[in-house]
Amino acid sequence: MHRHPSYATIHPVNYFPVFFNLKDQPVLVVGGGEVALRKVLLLERSGARITVVAPEVHADLRTRAATGSLTHQAREFVPSDLDGARLVIVATSRRAVNRWIATLSEARAIPVNVVDDRDASRFIVPAIVDRDPVLVAISTGGTSPVLARRLRERLEAFIPKRFGEFALWLRGLRQTSVDRLRDTQQRRRFFETLIDGPAAQRFIEGDPRGALKIAQQLLATTATAPRALGTVTLVGAGPGDPELLTLKALRALQDADIILHDRLVSPAILDYARRDATLLSVGKSAGGHSTTQADINALLIEHARQGLRVVRLKGGDPFIFGRGGEELAALARAGVDFSVVPGITAALGVAAYAGIPLTHRDHAHSVSFVTGHADRDGKEPDWRALAAPGATAVFYMGLARLERIVQQLLEHGAAADRPAALVAQGTLPNQRVVTATLGTLAAAVAAAQLESPALLIVGDVVALQSTLAWFNVVGDADIPQSA
Ligand code: SAH
Repeated sequence: MHRHPSYATIHPVNYFPVFFNLKDQPVLVVGGGEVALRKVLLLERSGARITVVAPEVHADLRTRAATGSLTHQAREFVPSDLDGARLVIVATSRRAVNRWIATLSEARAIPVNVVDDRDASRFIVPAIVDRDPVLVAISTGGTSPVLARRLRERLEAFIPKRFGEFALWLRGLRQTSVDRLRDTQQRRRFFETLIDGPAAQRFIEGDPRGALKIAQQLLATTATAPRALGTVTLVGAGPGDPELLTLKALRALQDADIILHDRLVSPAILDYARRDATLLSVGKSAGGHSTTQADINALLIEHARQGLRVVRLKGGDPFIFGRGGEELAALARAGVDFSVVPGITAALGVAAYAGIPLTHRDHAHSVSFVTGHADRDGKEPDWRALAAPGATAVFYMGLARLERIVQQLLEHGAAADRPAALVAQGTLPNQRVVTATLGTLAAAVAAAQLESPALLIVGDVVALQSTLAWFNVVGDADIPQSA
């Protein structure tokens, strides 16, 4: 049995992420302790005009008031302190006072943050990774400060210390690139090569002269290069779990100008695309619009000819029941450059996540991938070979024709007690596995009401599933295995 984890109903706020330009803007801080000091230190760097209202203040705040970097009003807060404020941060030690000030700010539509009181705050202050001028802000929507801190630590370790200087250096090259390079596309590629290549490496390692030399060479070669031709990358997206994308697939998604994807490719995977890439769904949807293969080929060619980097993203592997070969043939005919990034095909992903080894020294010496769809000219697969003992057969697109497939296997010599499994939504959190025998599978599947996409696996190896299942098997480990 598969149980799904249930979550307590929480309603996290979907904050709108912004960076606020506070230069010369009046900002009010109410409270004068440690906490207020921390916020003031952050505010100072933004160039805000800070006023601190508090009867008593931390020594550091007093020093700052004395040197004129902030104004200190040594008294209790009064409502007129809000006059003209662009932002309010409340950090007194009295919760009721904090909330009162928050209510007043709200009434005057001034964004307010009450330290450690998310419900009373209009905005929250994120955890940051600071590589001035590069700033990474992290929020968990208030769900877990510890998680935010861990993430921050990872980013701290991951982002080089000189990242901010590097950003400034890149800005310094912007005007030169505008003067020397033809169009925005060429400039984007120049900067991509710079950032991905040895120039960045040099700079980060502390050799800005070396970096500049590389940049100048690159500028010269880019300027004289002929207009970049578009390319098409045929990319396998894997069976569903986004973590099964290859590094190359990720890179292709990050570099793409436009992504033409199948309907089966999940939003979780499309999330990895470059933010301003155009996403075009060209899948066939049940009963909805569908794009013909000829249309898809034409779209690929058309966009590549505009000089774009086109990604054609397909579920699983593009060369396994994905018509990848047909699309490439069309590109070859049109003289468009292409490359292929393989993906984990459904059979491999699903078998792994279902705990069914497709081959096994004791049970199966071969595995066949078969389409459950009827062949275009009604040609049948080699049913005898698929039914033979010691063979594993994996049927794609087999759910609708399940009964016919089972019947053919039985007619061609497979035993009725040959183990068989149907796996639906494989590798995804809602993966479901139904195991049975050829004799009982159809009824079991009907009872379980599985939905496509689903994969049929037939062979003795399926029997191993009962011991090897590991994914989405909830709770069994806690239950004593008595029976
Ligand atoms: N090129 C793809 C296959 C496309 S055909 C690949 O290499 O995986 C579509 C069929 O793949 C579906 O009908 C189903 O049989 C199978 N399939 C794809 N994703 C699946 C998944 N997550 N779980 C089970 N079967 C899947």
